[in-house]
Amino acid sequence: MSAMNDLFNTYLLRELFKGLGITWRHMFQRKITVQYPEERTPQSPRFRGLHALRRYPNGEERCIACKLCEAICPAMAITIESAQREDGSRRTTRYDIDLTKCIFCGFCEEACPVDAIVETRIFDYHGETRGDLHYTKQMLLAVGDRNEEEIARDRAADARYR
Ligand code: SF4
Ligand code: SF4
Repeated sequence: MSAMNDLFNTYLLRELFKGLGITWRHMFQRKITVQYPEERTPQSPRFRGLHALRRYPNGEERCIACKLCEAICPAMAITIESAQREDGSRRTTRYDIDLTKCIFCGFCEEACPVDAIVETRIFDYHGETRGDLHYTKQMLLAVGDRNEEEIARDRAADARYR
């Protein structure tokens, strides 16, 4: 009986029409496909993407070289070297993040007492060699400079939950 049924279904092309029915039904429904990169899905202000180092409005680096981020990083992706400046303050002379090691856990930004290292909403970056994903202090500061407005807005939106 089941073999007869299969034969019947095959000759009547029932599976084919069933599939076409689904296609027709979805043709007139709201499209869920996003036309990236022109369109993007909504992001949370807590999105953990590419890192950035921030500055204060007067241009001074926020980072005070306390190395808490380096200590807490479970992937050991952060390397910091520091020195004392002439005015007695301590600043980093080297701040590298190896993004091939980073697991984007966000611990570094959580540990930072001055909101210097943050993760931005940027996810569409790439490197053609391993070295391209080795971000130096200058590269991280440049990301921060370019995106400070959005970073500050996201931090303000999240402030009451921290
Ligand atoms: S996001 Fe996590 S893994 Fe990546 S650098 Fe920060 S602490 Fe390390
Ligand atoms: S980024 Fe923040 S946690 Fe890391 S060394 Fe600088 S001040 Fe300390």
